[in-house]
Amino acid sequence: MPDKRDYYEVLGVSRDAKPEEIKKAYRKLAVKYHPDKNPGDKTAEDKFKELGEAYEALSDPDKRAAYDRYGHSAFSGGMGGGGGGGGFHDAADIFAQVFGGAFGGGFEEFFGGGRRQRSGKQRGSDLRYDLEITLEEAAQGVEKELEIERYVPCDSCGSKGTKGSGGIRSCSTCGGRGVVARQAGIFVQQSTCPECRGSGETVSDPCGNCRGEGRAQRDSRIKLRIPAGVDTGTRLRSSGNGDAGVRGGEAGDLYVFLHVRDHDVFERDGADLFCEVPLPFTTAALGGELKVPTLDGQASIKIPPGTQGGTVFRLRDKGIMSLSTKRRGDLHVRAQVEVPTKLNSEQQEKLRAFAASIGDQNSPMQESFFQKAKRFFDL
Ligand SMILES: [Zn+2]
Ligand SMILES: [Zn+2]
Repeated sequence: MPDKRDYYEVLGVSRDAKPEEIKKAYRKLAVKYHPDKNPGDKTAEDKFKELGEAYEALSDPDKRAAYDRYGHSAFSGGMGGGGGGGGFHDAADIFAQVFGGAFGGGFEEFFGGGRRQRSGKQRGSDLRYDLEITLEEAAQGVEKELEIERYVPCDSCGSKGTKGSGGIRSCSTCGGRGVVARQAGIFVQQSTCPECRGSGETVSDPCGNCRGEGRAQRDSRIKLRIPAGVDTGTRLRSSGNGDAGVRGGEAGDLYVFLHVRDHDVFERDGADLFCEVPLPFTTAALGGELKVPTLDGQASIKIPPGTQGGTVFRLRDKGIMSLSTKRRGDLHVRAQVEVPTKLNSEQQEKLRAFAASIGDQNSPMQESFFQKAKRFFDL
């Protein structure tokens, strides 16, 4: 594979191009390089594919932002792991989306094997599922079983849609094309055939279970492997787990959008974790050990004598693995010095004695503070 060209360059627009400019540029170039206009021209075909990919990346605000930050690596592997959110649609699909199916005739040949197949098979819909997971699950990865209602292949007729054989006929309304066409100016406007709902076929002895669709709606369970390092906004694709297609058509995909629940102890920023841990004021003064929580269990950090409140200790590699770099972030522990609230008279006495012995010496923060603020105190 030669190096990929910059998407903005492919579309011939500037990096701050508005969405309308991007669409306009795509429309112009996609028509120019469409394989139907350039039969047998491999360069045009590659250009057409390149355009589709560039347009898909730059027309989606999220994808565009990711591309602006990370370049092509924003879409290579990484994100979403395995089935990945990085995949691009077929160039013909993008073209059809942008032009809204406004092209008739020859263009359809090119879309053969796409969404609408002449055999009466139709691809099932893609589905969306929103899944909430805990921070621990996001950090370690987890396997989940999702319960969703979707179309699955009909058992009774083996997805054929008919009771016996020979019950399927080409739809007479659309002549089996699945679409009806109408001239609108220079374009041929196409719409889904109302009679066969796009399948191109009518069924004379439909299967009773699926009423001829070859698929039926049912609750189904889907196992999903969630890789370590996902975050809110990560999208996983479970290939072929969307709706089953009509009469044996290809199944759609299931897109799982992840939401990571807030955690009681840790806050997350990318791969790094943050938490606050109370530090007894005696330990802060004398030094010692402080037990801190991590996602891997308890850890302990060494507190040097004279530690001030607000000091942040960094525990390397105790954060969350980054999906893009595959390296773990750090855990930042902020010590919150705790002052006791219930002292008995003996303890109070000891603290007074301590205060008397230390006087106003040995208070580094106070010293520098009064130095800076002395004109306010009129000393
Ligand atoms: Zn029809
Ligand atoms: Zn059936």
